[in-house]
Amino acid sequence: MPYQEDRAAWFNGQGLWQHIPEADWSDWTWQLKNRLTSVEQLEQYMVLTPEEKAGCEFANQKLSLAITPYFFNLIDRDNPHCPIRLQMIPRSGEAQISAEEMLDSLGEDSHSPVPGLVHRYPDRVLFLVTDRCAAYCRYCTRSRLVSNAQHYDFHPEYEQGLRYIEAHPEVRDVLLSGGDPLLLSDKKLEHLLARLRGIKHVEFIRIGSRIPTFLPQRITPALCDIFKKYGPIWMSIHVNHPRECTQELKDACERLSYAGVPLGNQSVLLKGINDDADVMKALVQRLLRMRVRPYYIYQMDLITGGSHFKVDVRKGIEIIRALRGHTTGYAVPQYVIDAPGGGGKVPVNPDYVEKITDEEVVFRNFEGKQFRYPLTHTPLHKPVEEAAREIPIEALRIH
Ligand SMILES: *Cc1c(COP(=O)(O)O)cnc(C)c1O
Repeated sequence: MPYQEDRAAWFNGQGLWQHIPEADWSDWTWQLKNRLTSVEQLEQYMVLTPEEKAGCEFANQKLSLAITPYFFNLIDRDNPHCPIRLQMIPRSGEAQISAEEMLDSLGEDSHSPVPGLVHRYPDRVLFLVTDRCAAYCRYCTRSRLVSNAQHYDFHPEYEQGLRYIEAHPEVRDVLLSGGDPLLLSDKKLEHLLARLRGIKHVEFIRIGSRIPTFLPQRITPALCDIFKKYGPIWMSIHVNHPRECTQELKDACERLSYAGVPLGNQSVLLKGINDDADVMKALVQRLLRMRVRPYYIYQMDLITGGSHFKVDVRKGIEIIRALRGHTTGYAVPQYVIDAPGGGGKVPVNPDYVEKITDEEVVFRNFEGKQFRYPLTHTPLHKPVEEAAREIPIEALRIH
């Protein structure tokens, strides 16, 4: 069934916080200070299911509970299956650990030459600059360290990280992540970007952030000026469901775009949230309308207590098949599995090719129709013009 745009489409506004002065509401520090971080606070606004209550009790040993008022407004409090609710409110499933799961499922710690710096690929590094986020996704790939609920005591070593990058001329691409890099103060962020820009071999700088989605108020003109000054800075935002595409997010993306920041999106395929071709299609189409190019859909990492989010990979492939050819090519992301243990991101795509030999490639299109592309060259031994006249049109046409 096509995904129906609901009343909340594009509109968010102050919702439950009508009584707050607009100046406070639109101040990102107010949003952070007034996050919902306890069962008691949640219960002021909604009735939790027993599963959620049990989850909340366990949450603080795993990954802190925190939701910005802005994002909390997106939750349908009457619907336990609300896709925003399922992402943000802990459930008892978090306490169920499976044998396949790992604390550091991507082997990041073993690929870190310096605390907070992951050097997995030859030409680029992942630089974790903080362990804090504006709000916490219950399926977080870095639950082990983010929010410090598991006493991991993550301390990013900026100076050591920068010196490592300076000393490694093969690093041409630096990805700032965390936690959420946009939680750093403008001053700290500017310092980091200035230092990175000063390294001659660093030609590509990008930021991975969910702040435009959780806290669009953080995308201030002053922040955008920093991106302009040190640009090009690319950004991967993180949106999983069309309901997250509010007017506020759209405006924030516009401010970033106007500051010259190219935007991509990373989604995680999540059970009961976006494991549906119609929902995903609505999401990627809305992203394009916000100047955001869908970049990756991730298969859920094997984090501890995450199995209630896990989707069958065949379902993910089916979703990509439902997008490719059926909507704008720009809207179709790469579906990847980040290989457990640290193999990097590997695309898992629908198979269109049926056969490749020295003579031909046989493949199917988005409608399932079969085509062949010859790899042979059969000379006709005739003058070009004469030959062209003689080639039956049918021979040029794929059947
Ligand atoms: C995802 C990731 C990158 C960036 O990968 P791209 O495919 O270039 O977006 C770099 N390093 C690490 C460790 C990563 O996990």
